[in-house]
Amino acid sequence: MKVIVLGAGVIGTASAWYLAQAGHEVAVVDRREGPGLETSFANGGQVSVCHAEPWANPGAPLKVLRWLSREDAPLLFRLRMDPSQWSWGLRFLLECTAWRTRENIAQILAMAFYSRMALRELRAVTGIAYDESTRGILHYYTDRAELEAAREATAVMRRHGLDRVERTVEEAVAIEPALAPAAARIVGATYTPSDESGDAYLFTAALARLAQEKGAQFLCNREIRGLRATQRGVSGVVVAGPGGEETIAGDAFVVALGSYSGLLTRPLGLALPIYPAKGYSATVPVADPGKAPRVSLTDDEAKIVITRLGSRLRIAGTAELSGWSTDLNPVRCEALVRRARSLFPDAGDWSVPQYWAGLRPATPSNVPLVGATRIPNLWLNTGHGTLGWTMACGSGAALADLISGRKPAVDFAFTRP
Ligand SMILES: Cc1cc2nc3c(=O)[nH]c(=O)nc-3n(C[C@H](O)[C@H](O)[C@H](O)COP(=O)(O)OP(=O)(O)OC[C@H]3O[C@@H](n4cnc5c(N)ncnc54)[C@H](O)[C@@H]3O)c2cc1C
Repeated sequence: MKVIVLGAGVIGTASAWYLAQAGHEVAVVDRREGPGLETSFANGGQVSVCHAEPWANPGAPLKVLRWLSREDAPLLFRLRMDPSQWSWGLRFLLECTAWRTRENIAQILAMAFYSRMALRELRAVTGIAYDESTRGILHYYTDRAELEAAREATAVMRRHGLDRVERTVEEAVAIEPALAPAAARIVGATYTPSDESGDAYLFTAALARLAQEKGAQFLCNREIRGLRATQRGVSGVVVAGPGGEETIAGDAFVVALGSYSGLLTRPLGLALPIYPAKGYSATVPVADPGKAPRVSLTDDEAKIVITRLGSRLRIAGTAELSGWSTDLNPVRCEALVRRARSLFPDAGDWSVPQYWAGLRPATPSNVPLVGATRIPNLWLNTGHGTLGWTMACGSGAALADLISGRKPAVDFAFTRP
């Protein structure tokens, strides 16, 4: 079968790899000059099954309200005259009940577990390298109430088989000695030794090369304009590229356009509950390797992650629901560096941060949309929100199974016609 994958982020590229492995003829189309240059470019780097708790949870509505007017808020709704933002916000509120949160955690855990296993298998088979680290994820707390609140999420995750455990401050410092100067500010931590980290962009670029070796084509510098479709199916995708406008034909089409996915499907009557949640990162060179953390860290109070990627430190986080702009907001950028520097003053060269912003393709539940649509040969692999890197391999493998007519090895609520 000829499968056209729309989007060459970490999700589209992983889809292409597993589809090529399954023996399909694959072409990936993207507007950028290479794979992985939008949201998958400079994210937090965590492969974090332990972050399965979605933004939408019983405590979220109050926090979001409190944060509404704060320019440096970890999750900021910047209200706009945009019906898609309002309807997303309403659906987000509906996902905040305790039972919806439990359901969503179970779905996210299932896909994240499966994906982490698929990533390990891929690494073992191909030797793919991407500044990866398998030292786990340490989540530290500076607020006792938040630490106590985290016990419930930790217990739920343990019931699902995740090795997330609570650790004292002393134990946390033993796991990550670079935390020692900040120990007085920390009240406790949770640690998930089985979680990982690595550079999602390096991974995407390397996996694209491997997929090309398997025969997949990457058609870059091509802006996708629309799909030619009837109720019987999609016959082609209209793209504008270096040679002008053309229609690329295929037997099946996978929408993996991140935050832009819904803009493509809407004219076909498929409204996807995806809204961009803008986040920022700062990357600095490691200054003193002995003082820079090696274990990937999550700072609960600041809602940021700090990940060592080889000789670099990546600090990432914050979320802003404010539309599709990726302009850098200096207040939010500087807040990242200020926080990391205050905790690890000698770890990085803080004078030369490389700032970046990306748009998480967020669904109200943070459960991604993977599977079929009511248009017979149109498939979705999108809406991975805060965990696209974590869930990339699993979603790609499962989607390739579905397209090949096989039952995926993960118990997940795939989208259906
Ligand atoms: C600050 C931040 C920190 C994060 N940290 C983590 C983390 O630690 N762990 C984790 O698991 N996840 C993290 N994420 C989330 C993760 O980065 C995303 O979920 C993931 O990158 C989404 O991948 P994607 O392939 O769906 O989207 P993208 O990478 O955006 O790919 C979509 C592709 O579609 C292309 N495209 C879009 N529209 C068109 C068009 N019209 N024509 C042609 N091409 C088009 C784009 O060029 C792009 O290449 C973070 C995100 C942010 C912003």
